[in-house]
Amino acid sequence: MNMATTTMTEFSVVQQILTGVELDRHCAQCLSTFDPTTVRKDFPILQTLVRGKKPLVYLDNGATTQKPLAVIDRLKQYYELENANVHRGVYQLSQLATDVYEGARETLSRFINAGKSREIIFTRGTTESINLVASSFGRKFVHAGDEILVSGMEHHSNIVPWQLLCEATGAILKVISFSERGELDMDAFSRLLSSRTRLVAVTHLSNVLGTINPVEEITEMAHQAGARVLVDGAQWVGHFPTDVRRIGCDFYAFSGHKMFGPTGIGVLYGREELLEAMPPYQGGGDMIATVSFEKSTWNDLPYKFEAGTPNIADAVGLAAATDYLRSIDFPNLMYYEHGLMRYAENRLRQVPGLRLIGEAGSKSSVISFVLEGIHPHDIGTILDGDGVCIRTGHHCCQPVMDKLDIPATARASLAFYNTVAEIDALVASLNKVIAMFR
Ligand code: PMP
Repeated sequence: MNMATTTMTEFSVVQQILTGVELDRHCAQCLSTFDPTTVRKDFPILQTLVRGKKPLVYLDNGATTQKPLAVIDRLKQYYELENANVHRGVYQLSQLATDVYEGARETLSRFINAGKSREIIFTRGTTESINLVASSFGRKFVHAGDEILVSGMEHHSNIVPWQLLCEATGAILKVISFSERGELDMDAFSRLLSSRTRLVAVTHLSNVLGTINPVEEITEMAHQAGARVLVDGAQWVGHFPTDVRRIGCDFYAFSGHKMFGPTGIGVLYGREELLEAMPPYQGGGDMIATVSFEKSTWNDLPYKFEAGTPNIADAVGLAAATDYLRSIDFPNLMYYEHGLMRYAENRLRQVPGLRLIGEAGSKSSVISFVLEGIHPHDIGTILDGDGVCIRTGHHCCQPVMDKLDIPATARASLAFYNTVAEIDALVASLNKVIAMFR
C-alpha cells in the first residue's frame, strides 16, 4: 500500500478514505504519515494546563477548533494596522481594509473552488448561511405543496429553518432515513424525490455519527428530479479539500470556527444564477444600489446579501486559517486523521460496556459512544477532571437521538493536532469512570 505520493491528487486520497476497507488494513502506516508535534506548536492553547495541572486534551473539535498563531496574529495585525470600514471610504486606510476583506473573499473562493468570488457570501456561520437560503430562496422558489427533503441526521440548524419556511409557505418537509450504522438510505431518497421536490438539504459529514454522505450522487439525483441542493459543510471543511464544482451543489454552507478560523464568520457559497434570482435576505447599508421612499434597488453580488458593516476582521482571519490549513501536507493530514480515528475506535471498543454510535463505511473525525449504565454528562464531567474535553448531549441532533432511542451520547471529535497519546488519555480516563460507577 502506497501512502500519498506526489502524483496522487488530494481527491484520490479522499476517495481511498471514503472506500476505506483497504486503507483500514494499514492504520499504523496512516498514523506514521504525519507528525502532529510540529503543528501543535502553532496552537498556543494546546500548551496550556487545565486548572494549572493537567495537559489540555482537546477532543471537542466538532464543536469548535483551536486557533493557530497564524490566525491570532492576522487578527491582531488587522486591528493594529488595517482597520477601517470597507467599500465606502475614499481614504487610503479604507481602501486597504476593503482590499484585505475582498482579498479574503478571493481566498475563500479558491479554497472551495468556486467559479467566482461573487458566489461567496460572508455570513456569521453555517446557521446563518442556511437561514439565508431558507429565507431568500424559499421566498422566491418555494410554494404551498412543494417539498423540501432533509436527511434524518441533520443538525438542528439544517432542520428548523426549513420548518419555519414550511410553516410560512405551506410546503412540506420530508425526511430521508438512515440505517442503524448511520448510512443514508439512498433508495428511500430516490423514492422521496419527485417533481414536487424544490430543495434537498443534507450534511456532508454528520456531527454525531461521523458519516460522510455521498453528496455528489445526492446532487446528481436531485438535479435529475429538478431540485436544488444545499450541502451543510460545517464538519467537512476542516478535514478534507472542498470542491463545490466537483460536488455540483447549488449551495454550500460552512463556519470559520470549525476550521481553525475565528468565531462569528462563515460562508455561503451559491451558484451565481441562483443568487442573482434570489431576493435580499436583510435590508440595510451596502446591499442597495439606490434608495428612495418609493423604491429601492439592490447592489450587485455578493453585496446584495451582506447588509450592514460586515465582519471584516474575522473574514481576514478566516482567510489566514485557510492559508494555514493549505500550508499543511493535506494528503498525509487526511491519512493521519483517518488512522487516528480508527485507532481511537479500536481502543474504545475494548472499554467494557462501551458502544460506538455511528459505524458507517465512510466516516471521519467524529466518534460518538455510550457507556452502559452511565449518563454521558457524568462521563464528561469526570473526564474534565483529567483535562480531557469531550462533548456530551444530543449535539443539536435530537431526531438522531430519538431514532437511535438514546438520550444522549459522549462524543470525541478529532483534528490533525490530536495525538495517539491523547486517545490513550481518553481511554484511561474512561476506565476511571467505569471503576467509579461499577
Ligand atoms: N451543521 C453541523 C453539521 C454542525 O456540526 C454545526 C455546529 N455544531 C452546525 C451546522 C452549526 O454551525 P454554527 O453553530 O457554526 O452555525
